[in-house]
Formats: sequence, structure tokens, C-alpha cells
Amino acid sequence: MQNTRQFYINGEWVEPHEPRDHNVINPTTEMPCTAISLGGAKDVNDAVAAARAAFPAWKDTPGEERIAALERLIKNYEEGADSMANAMSLEMGTPIDFSRNVHFMAGLGHLRNFAKVAREFTFEEPLSEDSPDSWIIYEPVGVAALITPWNWPMNQVMLKVGAAIVSGCTMVLKPSEESPLSALILADMIDEAGFPPGVFNLVNGDGASVGAALSGHMDVDVVSFTGSGRAGKLVSANAVESLKRVHLELGGKGANLVFADADPDAVERGVRQLMINSGQSCIAPSRMVIEESVYDEAVQTAENVGQTLTVGAAGKHGPHLGPVVNKAQFEKIQSLIQKGIDEGARLIVGGPGRSDSFNRGFFVRPTIFADVTNDMTIAREEIFGPVLVMMKFKDEEDAIRIANDTEFGLMNYVQTQDDEKLKRVSRQLRSGMVEANGVRRGAGAPFGGVKQSGNGREGGKWGMEDFLEVKLVSGWK
Ligand code: NAD
Repeated sequence: MQNTRQFYINGEWVEPHEPRDHNVINPTTEMPCTAISLGGAKDVNDAVAAARAAFPAWKDTPGEERIAALERLIKNYEEGADSMANAMSLEMGTPIDFSRNVHFMAGLGHLRNFAKVAREFTFEEPLSEDSPDSWIIYEPVGVAALITPWNWPMNQVMLKVGAAIVSGCTMVLKPSEESPLSALILADMIDEAGFPPGVFNLVNGDGASVGAALSGHMDVDVVSFTGSGRAGKLVSANAVESLKRVHLELGGKGANLVFADADPDAVERGVRQLMINSGQSCIAPSRMVIEESVYDEAVQTAENVGQTLTVGAAGKHGPHLGPVVNKAQFEKIQSLIQKGIDEGARLIVGGPGRSDSFNRGFFVRPTIFADVTNDMTIAREEIFGPVLVMMKFKDEEDAIRIANDTEFGLMNYVQTQDDEKLKRVSRQLRSGMVEANGVRRGAGAPFGGVKQSGNGREGGKWGMEDFLEVKLVSGWK
């Protein structure tokens, strides 16, 4: 890459057809840290044409060669850890240690796991023992458009890029215009890894131009989209004419059910998990729902933990929270905090306004509300900031009712030491994922939601399957 205004198409860095500058804003300083170009339909046409031309050969490339290319990329990614971590810290404000230890590592974990899963994947197999002449073949879907958000830049990009590579799809990546720097560095790493031209292409741009051109393109076979429900619906509508596959990973409003028999760390863990990444996670446990017999104690614990949280510049080392990504997000969070106050929730930590000791930067004060009811705006909308809401439940049935009383269904959380209750409750929760007692999901676990949280599953073999078609051949000898 000679400059950040270029796109990566057909194995080369190229200039946009029509220059349209977009400043990338550093959320710590509110100043531009670099500029990219926003592409248009002509750039998308070039990228899709390159991906289409590269598809037949990439599809027929033996699986081991595709995995070998992925492993070269993994090596480049590992060697570029510092520049990648710095880029993410700069573009979306994540503190540098968190960027290096968590954001960077999340991307690496996905790539390593796709290499493993692809090695174990059976691309051809008989339908069953009874029908050995009915043969099942898994084939790559074709040209994939990958559209990603800013909040976990490399985590989201690698879930799509890694899966598309090992499945044999060719691809056009459109990263978020808020976090394009890490994706540009990735394109350099892919270039150095020696992928055939056209297998991976990158066009920067916004949703209305590049995003829409990709989702509506007749030569794109699948769109894998992660982002807001608003944009997910536009992508789906725009994809109708071409009848392409659409995978959606959308928002969440996770309930964290804390039963009276939860382990002693459950409340503190819940507060910290929500605050991770300054609350900008689709799986954030943003509604803490507590059994009434331990509610007052839980609120006190949350207040104590909340008071210890600190906010600081993204470039500073340490475990502090960084700013949120941009002005629009800062203002949206501020207005929701005010709504919480206006609708009668009890503010116990933080509140409106910029974090103390900063006179610039999108620094939201870590905020906790108690005595929230599930009909309040702050309990229904995805705030996507460091704002926790706490409410109480009466019994198991009430807990499940509150958890499911949301348009979202991504990740819910259960805290209880009663194994049977955990299983009963987990089965009743309408979400793609349930995390119990702070036990993190294993490598290669399926990630995705139901209801307004989307329809696909990323990661592991499920992530691969999203990029594969199933072909049946009968009479196979
Ligand atoms: P966003 O929807 O504004 O943007 C996401 C991506 O879509 C960006 O690349 C954007 O340019 C593009 N886009 C916007 N409008 C488009 C259109 N009309 N057509 C095509 N592309 C379009 O979301 P965001 O603010 O970047 O990300 C935050 C949202 O992402 C939150 O709702 C969060 O919950 C969700 N998210 C979901 C997951 C998940 O796996 N379920 C993971 C991370 C983030």
C-alpha cells in the first residue's frame, strides 16, 4: 500500500475511479488520524470482476494449498501484531493493551481455528450408510461480499475472511469506514502471503455507496454482513433482486440472569464484561437481571465495582476504558443516559457528560442504572456504550420472561450453581448463545443470533458452512 486512499483489487493497489476523501477520526483526540477514499460502483465492479475471474481456479485449488496460503497469512499477521494493534487503537479508540491482547488475538484465534477446521472438514461424503451412491459435495458459494463494523475490527473481518479462504470463495471486503486502517494493513499481509490475484479484494467506502453496490451486485453470490439491524435490513432488501444468500450478524441486548445461588464473583464479572471495549460489543451483557432476594446486595456490589473503573486515552498502557468510537455514538449514548434518568431509573454510577479530566475525546463516563424496568428505553435499545442497566426478577419463570422480552436474541448469560436450573433456563432462552457462570465459549464455537440479532453462524465449521453450497450427486460409484 503506497497510501491509505488506495484499494486492493486483483492483487494490486489501485487508485479509486473518483477520489472522495474521508477523514478517519481518532476518538481520543477528535482529530483526523488519516484519510481514506470512499469508493463507488465502478470500484466495486472492478473488485467483483476480479473476484469472479479468480473464482474457478481458487475453487479447484486443493484444500491443503488454500490452508497453506492461510498459514502464510497467519505468519504475517503474527509478525505484524504491533502495527495491527496500533491501527485498531487509533481508529476506534481501544486502549493499546486491550487492542494487542484481545482484539489482535481474537483475529489470530479465528484464523488458526479455520486452518484446523478446514483440515478436518469432509468436503465429499456419502449421504448415509444406506445410500452410499448418493454423494454429498460441499462447494464454495462463489464471490462473497464481506461487510464489517468498526467495534471489533479484526475479530469481525477474520471471521469472514478466514472462512471464505478455506471454503474456496473469492471475496470483496468492505470494512467499516470508521475502522479501515487495520483492514488496509491486512490487505498488505494478504498481498505478501502470495494469494492468487483476485481471491481477496478490498474496497473502502460507506454503506450507501460501496455497501449497497455490493449487496445489489448480480455477480456477488453471498453477502456476509455484520452491523446494525438498520443496515442489515437494507442489505437484505437490496439483495432480493439477485436472490443471493445473505448472512446477518446484528445487534444484541443480552440479559445476564443472576440467581440467588450465583457464585460470589458473578455481579462483579457481569459489570466488567459489560464495560469491556467501552460497552461496544454486540454480546455485551447489558441488562443485569437479579433475583430479588439478592438484588440490593448486587446493586451495592455493582456500585463499588463501577466506582473503580477508569477511563483513559487509547494510546496509554493499562486496563482503563477507552473513548467510544465517534461523535454520533457519543451523542447517542448521552441521550440514552438522559432518557434513563427521565424515565425514572436510579443512577448509581457515572451519568451524563464527558468523563472528568478530559476536555476532548469521546469519553463516556462508565454508567450504571439500578431499578430499571424492562419497558424503559435503556432496557430495550442497544446502547452500545459503557452503560449497564440493573433490574430484578421474582422467580425462574419471571427471569426467562424478562430475558426473552426483547427484539434481540444474540447472547444471554446465566449465573447459578444449580446445574439442573442452568440447563432448564438455557433451553428456554431465545438466543443463539448462552454463557454460563463466566465460562467462555470454546475455540470454533458457533457465533450468531436469532430474532433481530440475525441469522448466520460464524466461527468454526459453522462459519465455513455459511460459505459452502451442498451438492447432491446420485449414482456415484
Ligand atoms: P452499521 O450497520 O452502521 O455498519 C456496519 C457496516 O455496514 C459498515 O461497514 C457500514 O459501512 C455498512 N453499511 C451501512 N449501511 C449499509 C447499507 N445500506 N448497505 C450495505 N452496507 C452498509 O453498524 P456499526 O455501527 O458499524 O456497528 C455496530 C453494530 O454492529 C451494532 O448494532 C452491533 O451490535 C453490531 N454488531 C454485531 C455483531 C454480531 O456478530 N452479531 C458483531 C459486532 C457488531
